[in-house]
Amino acid sequence: MKKVVKFGGSSLASAEQFKKVGKIIRQEESRRYVIPSAPGKRFSGDTKVTDMLYSCYHLAIQEENFEKLLSKIRERYQEIIDGLELKLSLDAEFQTIRENFSKKIGRDYAASRGEYLNGIIMANYLGYEFIDAAEVIFFDEKGTFDSEKTNKILSERLERVEKAVIPGFYGSAPDGRVKTFSRGGSDVTGSIVAKAVHADMYENWTDVSGFLIADPRVVKNPKAIDVITYRELRELSYMGASVLHEDAIFPVRKEGIPINIRNTNAPEDKGTLIVEATCRKPRFTITGVAGKKDFASITIEKAMMNSEVGFCKKVLEVFADNQISIEHMPSGIDTMTILVHQDEFEEKEQKVIAGIHRAVEPDFVEMESDLALIAVVGRGMKSTRGTSGRIFSALAHANVNVRMIDQGSSELNIIIGVRNHDFDNAIKAIYDIFVTTQV
Ligand code: ASP
Repeated sequence: MKKVVKFGGSSLASAEQFKKVGKIIRQEESRRYVIPSAPGKRFSGDTKVTDMLYSCYHLAIQEENFEKLLSKIRERYQEIIDGLELKLSLDAEFQTIRENFSKKIGRDYAASRGEYLNGIIMANYLGYEFIDAAEVIFFDEKGTFDSEKTNKILSERLERVEKAVIPGFYGSAPDGRVKTFSRGGSDVTGSIVAKAVHADMYENWTDVSGFLIADPRVVKNPKAIDVITYRELRELSYMGASVLHEDAIFPVRKEGIPINIRNTNAPEDKGTLIVEATCRKPRFTITGVAGKKDFASITIEKAMMNSEVGFCKKVLEVFADNQISIEHMPSGIDTMTILVHQDEFEEKEQKVIAGIHRAVEPDFVEMESDLALIAVVGRGMKSTRGTSGRIFSALAHANVNVRMIDQGSSELNIIIGVRNHDFDNAIKAIYDIFVTTQV
């Protein structure tokens, strides 16, 4: 059994957190490859080391004094080293960082030092080999992750290493310069390493016990999701539920490696298992419910629209020409509605309307704003009768007026449009009918 274990910033924010992590790793021999993030927040209002590094580098490029901030960063690491009673000095490392900042070596390099230094500490603490991610994770000239080169070099290297720490978030470009993934990118590194070593499991340790069925800011103490498929997760994270970096899914998904989201502060919790497919029956009919606010809808009406060849194409071209992405597109016989992000649309509104008039000569164009979209997602919905009936009667009881319905052809989700101000009530009502009343 081989596991890749990634620990997020809050799991590594202090010596105390490091000790919890050490205990988790030592508990299972199979936890052989460790991906650390940079130290995160220790308390609310604290600053992540990555953010401190960005600010520090900003001072360096303005040719302002960055020494004070660099010392503060250094203190964060020293506190961890002292708390773990390690005989480790980062003197030389900080000297190199100082010199490189003065040379204005690059923003990505600056940010990556958070993970790099944490990796050195982690390797020393565990007695694992340290592998600099710049030597094994590669990007191409365009700055895109080079999966082929990485997989080849990384798997060859790790074949010879029993246990290693590989810092998350960064790699190197063809010219040798450090390049990072987007924020939260250590999740991606973990996934890449899991693929390279053909891991049995990719454990992603964070500060929550997995994905929750609904947003805890809307529903009080929502239940956690035990098992979710990659497709369900895509639907939910698209709608704003986020624990994992979106790009972390692709490397492991192709290899059929499951991801287990776990809680460093509650290691006994099983967390959420993300899998390609499962025959395990879901606990509830829905796997999750999530949504986003602030959409606008444009409804176009024209008699005999259905028989006019190329009608949709012409309308969609107007949106494309104005660089507006379309979120949903429910249609009727003589109407079609386009849902877009309100903020993106507002400034181009009149141009788009004029474009539509020119393109298809509609009878009528109507617009509405302040709409919210809610996705009810669940692989269990397909085989359950009456799901939509239950959703809509729950919404009716909660006095929520449904503005739009769109069931994905995969039967994995039902998208419901409501007014922004009904958003919370709608989510609560859906959660209650499928979860609260079932336990
Ligand atoms: N430390 C980086 C960030 O704050 C990457 C990560 O934590 O995954 O975004």
